Amino acid sequence: MSRVYNFSAGPAVLPEEVLKEAAEEMMDYRGCGMSVMEMSHRSKMFDTIIKEAEQDIRDLMNIPDNYKVLFLQGGASQQFAAIPMNLMKNKKAGYVVTGQWAKKAFQEAKLYGEAIELASSADETFSYIPDCSDLDIPDDLDYVYICENNTIYGTKFKTLPNTKGKDLVADVSSCFLSEPIDVSKYAVVYGGVQKNVGPAGMVIAIVREDLITDDVLPGTPTMLKYKTQADADSLYNTPPCYTIYICGKVFKWLKKMGGLEAMKAHNEKKAKILYDFLDESKLFKGTVRKEDRSLMNVPFVTGDADLDAKFVAEAKAAGFENLKGHRTVGGMRASIYNAMPIEGVEKLVEFMKKFEAENS
Ligand SMILES: *Cc1c(COP(=O)(O)O)cnc(C)c1O
Repeated sequence: MSRVYNFSAGPAVLPEEVLKEAAEEMMDYRGCGMSVMEMSHRSKMFDTIIKEAEQDIRDLMNIPDNYKVLFLQGGASQQFAAIPMNLMKNKKAGYVVTGQWAKKAFQEAKLYGEAIELASSADETFSYIPDCSDLDIPDDLDYVYICENNTIYGTKFKTLPNTKGKDLVADVSSCFLSEPIDVSKYAVVYGGVQKNVGPAGMVIAIVREDLITDDVLPGTPTMLKYKTQADADSLYNTPPCYTIYICGKVFKWLKKMGGLEAMKAHNEKKAKILYDFLDESKLFKGTVRKEDRSLMNVPFVTGDADLDAKFVAEAKAAGFENLKGHRTVGGMRASIYNAMPIEGVEKLVEFMKKFEAENS
């Protein structure tokens, strides 16, 4: 068996320990004679799996009691619609547009009401986070929406916007569980799990209870109503059982690693190795304003598209996979999520140094 260093933005690297455990339990999950993939979602076995997963993420994120944790299908993109459907009481919401995912959410919201662009960093190819300390926020705004970590452009909000008392909704797909957050500052915080938490096919939405009501936009599908899912403890219909099981294992792995404070320290150390090199390199450079750099997604370029392509090809041959930048941006991107070991980043930097020496 040989594993590569996988820098994919998502689906992405998972902890080896978790994969091994899942492999061991594949044929016979804890003496029940079947795989988790084969068992009823109404069984006692699965009930324990989903309840433990919920408790573990509550412990990790210190989620207050007045928030529900929902395990939902449809990915993060489905939430682009579910959020306005559930939250747009005045049919007016404000969006901070910091990249492609924020833009998609913004455009989707326009299908359901008035969506206002509160700020944007489109003028400089989303290479920074706009100042959100004094946004022009209308009184009747239902919520302020951000994409907290921009997977494609590699920026991250280091301070949350001043919403002037309005509810804050955040897509944290690509920084989920990478560091502690104060859940009480958000009305809804959600993320697709395939970036930093588990296999594709699920989004976890953490929703403040007072927002979970029958007062949703007319025509909201039953499945997209938070109340449907909350009332049924995420078991309204068959949930993505196997994904929930793997996420549960990742939560336990995170607890064992020391929780989110420890993860943050680990991620900072890891990102610093790469950013320090990018800052001193004569060939490679980072594309993001320093103070807005993500700990999870690190885009960089040589400034020469042919050389970028050569780098990606040679890196792949050397066992560093998925370093090609997003198709809309070009260049390179290293996604260094929780499960990427420090050694993976150290070896990548070593390889980049060698490539630089050979190509300048
Ligand atoms: C990947 C990603 C999405 C889209 O996720 P899907 O699960 O594919 O819908 C949305 N937002 C962010 C920040 C992402 O990184």
